[in-house]
Amino acid sequence: MSVSQSLQVTAIPAFDDNYLWLIHDQEYAAIVDPGDAAAVEAALAAHQLKLAAILLTHHHADHAGGVPALVRHWHVPVYGPASERIPGIDHPLREGDVVTLTSPSVQLSVLDVPGHTAGHIAYVAQGQHWLFCGDTLFAGGCGRLFEGTAEQMTQSLGKIAALPDNTKVYCAHEYTVSNLRFAVAAEPDNQRTAERLAAAQTLRAQNIATVPSTVGEEKLTNPFLRYREKSIANLLKTSGRLNKDDPVAVFAALREWKNVFR
Ligand code: ZN
Ligand code: FE
Repeated sequence: MSVSQSLQVTAIPAFDDNYLWLIHDQEYAAIVDPGDAAAVEAALAAHQLKLAAILLTHHHADHAGGVPALVRHWHVPVYGPASERIPGIDHPLREGDVVTLTSPSVQLSVLDVPGHTAGHIAYVAQGQHWLFCGDTLFAGGCGRLFEGTAEQMTQSLGKIAALPDNTKVYCAHEYTVSNLRFAVAAEPDNQRTAERLAAAQTLRAQNIATVPSTVGEEKLTNPFLRYREKSIANLLKTSGRLNKDDPVAVFAALREWKNVFR
């Protein structure tokens, strides 16, 4: 078996609803967004893996909080966004950079995806069609705009939507059911969204992860990639949430509605 055939991604559940993503080849591992060092150490021990690299998408503690404890133990390179101050980063990255790891053998290209935070980055394993997008795109939804603008977020999500449809979306939280409940409200005539919500509810009832999804599935059902659909703008207008026509205003109104949706 070649190394690339044996390369895989394993979810490490942490906190209430985070997924920390472990990329490994049965011997060496890279961890994406280790918010919880103890959870990572337990997974490494359970799978008998050695940590070789840490990859960060943004500065929030549920993504970067485990770095100090992990580097004390493993002395590994820490990759992360060049424009965010995160203690421990020794390989600052921006769009166009490529991270080449030898063990596990994987190349990850970097996208700047500001919006959730100002310096948020995402990693694309082009050979495998894997996307690690932190809190930018979620299954059925997108991250809150804590530091960036709606315009930035539409551009960031546009970069993700331009990836091949079969790209697996390894997002950082299990928010799928609540996101899709909102998606159904935003696009009540989208039958595929309703079916996806039912399927996600069935999985969660059995405590099974709903992620990764795919870029293609998100383009068909995620309102934050579908805000250019006329029906979404019309619904926002008739419910008094929007009085303009430009796509960024539609996106902003959609995001604000989601913030108060129950
Ligand atoms: Zn975050
Ligand atoms: Fe998060």
